[in-house]
Amino acid sequence: MLEQLKAYFGFDQFLPLQEEIIDKVLANRDTLVLMPTGGGKSLCYQLPALHFKGLTLVVSPLIALMKDQVDGLRANGVPAGLLNSTLTAQESAQIQDQAKQGQLKILYIAPERLALPGFQRFLHSLQVSLIAIDEAHCISEWGHDFRPDYRNLRSLRKEFPGVPVIALTATATTQVREDILNQLGLDKPEIFISSFNRPNLTYTIQPKTEPLGSLLNLLEKHQGGSTIIYRFSRKATEETAMELSDRGFSALPYHAGLDRDLRRETQEKFIRDQVQIVVATIAFGMGIDKPDVRLVVHYDLPKTVEGYYQETGRAGRDGLPSDCVLFYSYGDRSKQEYFISQIEDDDERDKAHTKLDQILALCDLQTCRRAYLMEYLGEPWPKTDCGSCDICMLPREEFDATEIAQKILSTSIRTGERFGVNYLVDVMRGANNKAVRDRGHHELTVFGICRDADSDDLKEMVRSLVTNGLLAQQGSGYPTLAVSAQGRRFLNDRETLTLTRPKQAAPVLQKSFDTSGRETAYDTRLFDELAALRLEIATEREVPAYVIFGNKALQQMAFHMPQNDQDFSNISGVGDAKLREFSAPFLKVITEYVQANSVAVTTARVPVSAPKKRANRGISTSIRETRYLVAQGMSLSEVAEQRGISETTIRSHLEKLVQEGGTVELDHLMPSEDRRTKIEAAFKEVGEARLTPIRDMLGEDYSWDEIAVVRLALRQEQADG
Ligand code: ADP
Ligand code: ZN
Repeated sequence: MLEQLKAYFGFDQFLPLQEEIIDKVLANRDTLVLMPTGGGKSLCYQLPALHFKGLTLVVSPLIALMKDQVDGLRANGVPAGLLNSTLTAQESAQIQDQAKQGQLKILYIAPERLALPGFQRFLHSLQVSLIAIDEAHCISEWGHDFRPDYRNLRSLRKEFPGVPVIALTATATTQVREDILNQLGLDKPEIFISSFNRPNLTYTIQPKTEPLGSLLNLLEKHQGGSTIIYRFSRKATEETAMELSDRGFSALPYHAGLDRDLRRETQEKFIRDQVQIVVATIAFGMGIDKPDVRLVVHYDLPKTVEGYYQETGRAGRDGLPSDCVLFYSYGDRSKQEYFISQIEDDDERDKAHTKLDQILALCDLQTCRRAYLMEYLGEPWPKTDCGSCDICMLPREEFDATEIAQKILSTSIRTGERFGVNYLVDVMRGANNKAVRDRGHHELTVFGICRDADSDDLKEMVRSLVTNGLLAQQGSGYPTLAVSAQGRRFLNDRETLTLTRPKQAAPVLQKSFDTSGRETAYDTRLFDELAALRLEIATEREVPAYVIFGNKALQQMAFHMPQNDQDFSNISGVGDAKLREFSAPFLKVITEYVQANSVAVTTARVPVSAPKKRANRGISTSIRETRYLVAQGMSLSEVAEQRGISETTIRSHLEKLVQEGGTVELDHLMPSEDRRTKIEAAFKEVGEARLTPIRDMLGEDYSWDEIAVVRLALRQEQADG
């Protein structure tokens, strides 16, 4: 099995539970697999599929993803196909033929197919060895994504008695788990539940003061990294996307109110790295299987802890360090309380309140966020210090809160213990508004006792008095605050109160890049070059970049700098097929880089470039620099020389720019009119997907640069027109 793991998938080891699961599947047992996003579920049926004689059927509701999954398998040399509504009748017939003739090992099907007359007959003409049900929670009405078509799976189970079924999901709740088992009618299933902790994610929750500024800082740090920003309302997604675009970021909005085709297009662009940031409502997520999302921001308070866990879970599927940041404010809290108060059903409203309290507790936490999350998911968590949440990372300091606590409690008492946090803070800050004047509270001694305090800070303080039991919250919706017995004791006995707060205002996000071990010391410039080559190949093949290689593979290349096939094959993600196909172009870039920078080969196994500041690590900075230099009138070779990277890379920078709708100053790079016409004619004849046939046609007299520049101009014109 290990041999096949390396040969097909390029991995040396199994991830936790994979081997045990595969063992059972190969023994023809029914299995249920609960693993978090990024846990490596696909391999649990893909590897057995290679072992079995017949075909493995994979049912998946994520039509948008099927093609990428199949492309990924094919790139690894696994014969795979798909059947869903995106195919033409002809394509569909062709795949069915291949399946019947036993030419496929894996066939992805959309669940709605099962209801089509004739499809069962087709299935019975196949030799089915294994049935995999991906996103199995879709069968449950308890889950967050019920699909009626999934109910047909029960009959599928009956039609193929004796064929093992493996059901997989990232939803952990027991209710859903039971439902899957019942609905699918699994036969004495082996159940595998892996830890839902996501060690490569850093959790940060910070006050929503100047959120846009904080967001820009975060994006600066994650330049070039795919980012999802969640917002509460449709309108807000559009506003934020606009604000970011205005500042030169590549950002698009996404919400259920947008046209279907537009949504699909946006999703597609995100997956293919043609847009870096998607600002979305929670409608965006299902079907986003992008492994290299580096940052997930909750710009507004999420409704539930489950939601928060699911949405942050979309970061870092590839196992590389990624950041999850939530901005939290009293305003958001009140907004949600308002919405909840509008719910008519008493039960529903209470439930929503409980959920809100749970997420607020997460925000208010003074202890490890991860521990809270794990406990919430019902998983024992031994450690109290995870080392990668803002609480564990930030040194906290104690401060004497006696005086401020006295002021808050006195204000509550003087105003009759009938008001909520906003009103208390208004009185303390001496707000001269109608509500205060009408009640005569502007004449109280406590009116304006904290005139200069920041309103959010004060609200935080009030909140932590609630957390610490000195104030008691009453009622729901807009709860009022009263001084608790403990609070009265504190006042009467003149006790002191010590609380903790973060030592620095801003969390140290950069840290997440430094805790991930050796390979963070990879050479970032070489990484950029390899990423550019990857993009070029991916674009030619019309697949997402990660189908060629994941970031981890590129980081390892930029760290170990392999210079022959043997060493190249040791890189994670390089199996036989990718070794055959891609070693030559990637080795070329690495070898040239090593020579050009006279990096001694003997140093290849120690960190090569000192891990300096990482501010410029993303490819987009690099691309911007290229654009800048070209706009200065430099030729491609001059830019390449100045920057110390290959011309191929410079060319691919420009391609990416144009692909993203940017413009590049090309006039000074254009060949003469007559050469240009010849090149254009060649493109017309052969198509413009690849450069090699054009060069072959035109002969050595034409340079790659000329050809590439003409293609860029053509594309730019197409984009303009
Ligand atoms: P899930 O479906 O559980 O979210 P995936 O099957 O997409 O997870 O796998 C997550 C990532 O882990 C993918 O990038 C995959 O290539 C990688 N992966 C899977 N198995 C292994 C392994 N044994 N070693 C290294 N990486 C792996
Ligand atoms: Zn922690």
